[in-house]
Amino acid sequence: MLDFSRTGAAVGGTSATLEKTRLLGEYFRSLNDDDLRRAAVFMSGRPFGPSKRRTLGLGWSAVSKAIGAISRRNDEELQEIFRKHSDLGNWAGEALAGSTENEDVSLEEVEQALEAIRVARGGAKAAPLEALLRRLHPEAARFVVKIISTEMRIGLSEGLVEAAIGEAFGVAVTQVKRVHLITGDIGETAVRIKHGQIETSTVTLFQPVRFMLASPVETAAEAFERMGADKVWTEEKYDGVRCQLHHADGRVELFSRDLKETTSAFPELAENAPRIGHAVLFDGEVLAHRDGRVLRFFELQRRLGRKVVTDELRGQVPVVLVIFDLLSLDGRALLDEPLEERRRLLEGLALQHPFLLARLEDATSPSELDRIFADTRERGNEGLMVKDPKSPYTPGRRGLAWLKLKRPLATLDVVVTAVDWGHGKRKGVLSDYTFAVKDAATGRLVNVGKAYTGLTDAEIAEMTKRFLAITLEDRGWARLVKPEVVLEVAFDSIQHSGRHASGYALRFPRIVRIRDDKPVDEIDTLDRVSELYERYFGERSEAPLSEIAEVKPPTRSGPLSGPDRPPHKVGR
Ligand code: AMP
Repeated sequence: MLDFSRTGAAVGGTSATLEKTRLLGEYFRSLNDDDLRRAAVFMSGRPFGPSKRRTLGLGWSAVSKAIGAISRRNDEELQEIFRKHSDLGNWAGEALAGSTENEDVSLEEVEQALEAIRVARGGAKAAPLEALLRRLHPEAARFVVKIISTEMRIGLSEGLVEAAIGEAFGVAVTQVKRVHLITGDIGETAVRIKHGQIETSTVTLFQPVRFMLASPVETAAEAFERMGADKVWTEEKYDGVRCQLHHADGRVELFSRDLKETTSAFPELAENAPRIGHAVLFDGEVLAHRDGRVLRFFELQRRLGRKVVTDELRGQVPVVLVIFDLLSLDGRALLDEPLEERRRLLEGLALQHPFLLARLEDATSPSELDRIFADTRERGNEGLMVKDPKSPYTPGRRGLAWLKLKRPLATLDVVVTAVDWGHGKRKGVLSDYTFAVKDAATGRLVNVGKAYTGLTDAEIAEMTKRFLAITLEDRGWARLVKPEVVLEVAFDSIQHSGRHASGYALRFPRIVRIRDDKPVDEIDTLDRVSELYERYFGERSEAPLSEIAEVKPPTRSGPLSGPDRPPHKVGR
């Protein structure tokens, strides 16, 4: 840890980027694999690599107490030293000077101590923390506290750590970045580069791969244009959480979109994966489903972020994994294979519940794509994924091989009933508009949402004047206004909500235009909102699971030879 700290101090002592890279590169070169892995993670200001779902759960007061106990300084003295530095690590270094045992503790021991702190609960974290700090040289303690507080403050970005890895092992930084795109873990990246594993299509099971991302498009024509293909594949855009599943020889690990391990959150997937009978790496989306129906995202939310899932919760909100990609099969990396080949192999696995395949349909023209989009909307999905069947899997990239086609669900004409003063750039103008529709039964206006976007600065300035003039009641940060400004708003979905008198809330509303041509009498009604809700989000429109699960070979000249079937229509 002393060498680490000396290197860190030297890196912090120069502002020259090249010199930082050289110093760090030299240090990295001197390390064995395990220490290299640890040092790269620590230098990036993290106690643990991102693939481990680990956080220390250590508060500032615990660190302060430990330092107080070791240094025998009172709060006042500690605060005075802190004021001098305004940096936790530097503060700890100075406060501990002369009070520690100055042992040279290895990176491995530091890692073990951090793990002991992590697994201890509440007040029990104090003992391993104090024991670690007490053994360290104050300079090393300075860096350990920087790592614990995830603030290195030595002018070292992850980009520079990548550059240093390249420098250490004579590999171009672009190569390092490419490998890092796959691993997402700087420690793993460092070790791969050291061993010349720069083949970016390599995947190692149980080492998460960064997810491939999609670029947004708004029209079917734009999708074809941007993809530059004659034929595109479409898949439903499922509204769940992204998940990567690794399985080999009965061992199973799941990772979330940010590459954190989430195996314990979805025990039904972990328990059933060994039945797949192959070593696999899947990319897919976890959905909640019960009694053959996909449940709303808000139900799935109850399952997220949990370390322990009770049987009761499992019963109430069971999950499935809808798989749309296969990155590795029985030891063979498939990243460079075209999507159509990866899908063919995926279909050959004959997956069973709770593993399902994403619904696939191909399109050869924008009008066909529009029709598929309309169908998916009918099934209650917010959008459609459009994929190039010839494309490789490119980890971490938001390219044009995967597009997400999303469009506003509908627009409504509404009237503004209240306005709020904006924040930040919008300070001093009335920029947030609460709006209502008409309840035809009572003739009253009932709020259904609040819009912040869609108008230009000039329009907002103009509207501010207008709203000031028609204020009915000034409530400080907000004003109730005379309901006479009619807006057309677009939105993506509707939720039930206790927040507004209408019982509904529009999600992601944005102002399309100001409808000065439309009298308030003619705005949309609550009935129209209920109708849209029932149509797209009501119970009936939830696609039955068996239909989502169906493996559907692309129709017509699809690459998967199979019986020519008419396009499969799911839904009502
Ligand atoms: P967005 O979150 O709007 O950027 O959309 C991308 C996300 O959609 C992905 O990260 C996935 O979690 C999700 N998704 C749902 N269905 C699919 C699918 N068939 N293919 C790829 N991603 C999907």
